[in-house]
Amino acid sequence: MIFSKLGLDQMLASRCESLGYTEPTPIQQKAIPIVLSGADLIGCAQTGTGKTAAFLLPMIQRILTTPRRGVRLLVIAPTRELATQIEVSLQMLAHGKAVRSITLVGGASIGLQIEGLRKAPSVVISTPGRLIDHIERRSIDLSLVETLVLDEADRMLDMGFWPDINYVLGKLPVERQTLLFSATMSPQIEKIARSNMRNPTLVEVSPRGKAATTVEQLAYPVARESKTALLLHLLEAESKSRVLVFTRTRRSAEQLSHILSAREHKVNRIHADRTQSQREAALRGFKEGRHRILVATDIASRGIDVDAISHVINYDVPEAPEDYVHRIGRTGRANNTGRAITLVSPVEELSMTAIERMTGKPIERVFLPDFGGTLFSSHAPSKSAGAFFRKRGRR
Ligand code: AMP
Repeated sequence: MIFSKLGLDQMLASRCESLGYTEPTPIQQKAIPIVLSGADLIGCAQTGTGKTAAFLLPMIQRILTTPRRGVRLLVIAPTRELATQIEVSLQMLAHGKAVRSITLVGGASIGLQIEGLRKAPSVVISTPGRLIDHIERRSIDLSLVETLVLDEADRMLDMGFWPDINYVLGKLPVERQTLLFSATMSPQIEKIARSNMRNPTLVEVSPRGKAATTVEQLAYPVARESKTALLLHLLEAESKSRVLVFTRTRRSAEQLSHILSAREHKVNRIHADRTQSQREAALRGFKEGRHRILVATDIASRGIDVDAISHVINYDVPEAPEDYVHRIGRTGRANNTGRAITLVSPVEELSMTAIERMTGKPIERVFLPDFGGTLFSSHAPSKSAGAFFRKRGRR
């Protein structure tokens, strides 16, 4: 399958090729023709499946081939990082062609954004709160929007953004195309789709709620007080890989980052108490390899699009099984194999069981007696910790 077969013109097809996209991913194969046709679409796909290009490529084509004034594409995303990343992808795919865009997120100067909006962007990418600020200040005109993209809609619901989005929907033309992307499909998402979309086609690339298949998953039962020691042990088993560590709270992200740094790991952290510029610096450092380890909380991690994250380590088991799917979706991106490790204390076994129920797959346990790993859980012993990391190093 090649990009031009999907209805994309030669310029965009060659651009994909030069970015190393040898063939469209499954979501791109299914979604691009639908988006090009102008129909509504629900894309049930996680981050890492190529979903961003699935909606950006056809939109770039439409903007370039039928020039019109006004904001034509509005993308709403849950976090600043994701919004920024979408604009980076847009400009990377459009590659110097005149697709004017702007990202409107909190934490950045509203004055500069107002100035940017005066330059007539065709594409606006925004988080819900800042978009509403602009609507209320009348600094943005949404009356000519042709396509609305709700990216990571499930996460926006979890974060309580639905009233904001509803408000924005009321400001958009009724005649429009709506594309909704979500890693998981819940009855609530289906309800939203029914009342705000027109005969949407559902495109699923992995069964609902299933984790990405390119991610190998392991769980390490561990005594609560031994988690940090086990994490250090795992991190020291392989020095080259790029590791994303998740914690449940900002405080533990902060503490853990200091502990790792004291052990001379190259580490930074990203969570809601960090300023926008601190978050951007942390992401850049991670992307460019200055920090091998990034410690993140769930919400702050949403826009992390860094290739070659070799390991995701869940220092805490996420309470919501969907968060587990989101977290491990940060590794194993676009055809790379990744590994997800979860440290499970006895009180977290229940949450782990809920995750296994949702992903439909038991997660292999690794028992390390030194870290209290044999005292509980009925799972049979398997690999050793070092083997897990070394296996990757040899590939
Ligand atoms: P996304 O799911 O949009 O977050 O995309 C995940 C990653 O896959 C991004 O780093 C993209 O650059 C990359 N990507 C998108 N489409 C393709 C493709 N057809 N082939 C290879 N990589 C891709």
